[in-house]
Amino acid sequence: MILRAENLAKHFAAPGGLVRAVDGVSFTLARGETLALVGESGCGKSTTARLVLRLIEPSAGQVAFDGEDITTLPPNRLKPFRRRAQIVFQDPYASLNPRLRVGDTIQEPMRVHGLGSAAEQRARVQELLALVGLAPFHAQRYPHEFSGGQRQRIGIARALAVQPDLVVCDEPVSALDVSIQAQVVNLLKDLQQRFGLSYLFIAHDLGVVKHMADRVAVMYLGKIVELAEKRTLFANPRHPYTRALLAAIPHPDPALRGRVKPLGGDLPSPLNPPPGCRFHTRCAFATELCRREEPALVDGVACHHTAELPPLDMAYAGGLSETATRRLARYAQAAGQRN
Ligand code: SF4
Repeated sequence: MILRAENLAKHFAAPGGLVRAVDGVSFTLARGETLALVGESGCGKSTTARLVLRLIEPSAGQVAFDGEDITTLPPNRLKPFRRRAQIVFQDPYASLNPRLRVGDTIQEPMRVHGLGSAAEQRARVQELLALVGLAPFHAQRYPHEFSGGQRQRIGIARALAVQPDLVVCDEPVSALDVSIQAQVVNLLKDLQQRFGLSYLFIAHDLGVVKHMADRVAVMYLGKIVELAEKRTLFANPRHPYTRALLAAIPHPDPALRGRVKPLGGDLPSPLNPPPGCRFHTRCAFATELCRREEPALVDGVACHHTAELPPLDMAYAGGLSETATRRLARYAQAAGQRN
């Protein structure tokens, strides 16, 4: 086990109350595993990522990295953890210093952590450029001379420069064209296999994570509402919100495409979230119980009525036939097996 988050919370004081950005999140990450945190913008997934890296301080809860509680470590003892836990950001351009040559950008973390001599660091820069599919001469160039996909490769090279164990990937492909997304996802998977990396992979849609994750945690308004193995989650989503996210993925079958209803309404404000189940204001299956009592996460799902939910397409596709139900299940299963 490389990472364990236990009842992690981050509350911000705001005019009108307390913003519960993250509100009691627990998960584990095994060595070499990819856990995806998925949810709409504002659900707390990026805040969770920053808590895990202790880039911000938690309001409550604990993060253990390789068995050590890093939430209570004094700042002067965080350096070894900072080397072993790195981040790849969503917007590579914003995260690269425009005035630094790419070679210096990749070398900088090695300098900060005192890894090797200057000559060894420069040699390592060349290795890293090759690893992420860039050429040696790219070390002399500046960030603005690269495409979005290339800049993300530079961000990945910089994260790997200090030989981390954990890489938090914060929406690493969201800003890229679809064709480039696949290349970056494949690169991340390849590097994971070579170096045994563990990934906490943040994404706002399930389409990307189905190619990347081993397990998926779906977040809604600061809480995990479903956590399951990827194949299980895609074949049998048990929370209405997970189903809605799945329904938003473009379907491979033209007969089903466009017939699924997207999730209606906006994410409520995390400032005074709805009582009871936080999803009840958008859930087609909400009952009085849902409005009154918050469901606990039990056996990987937080829903009072998960056992009674109708088949996926009946719920979100306006009543498709039996055949369509079976086909939909087959596609979900095939997608799981392919990945
Ligand atoms: Fe919907 Fe109720 Fe389940 Fe919440 S607990 S997801 S409102 S059915």
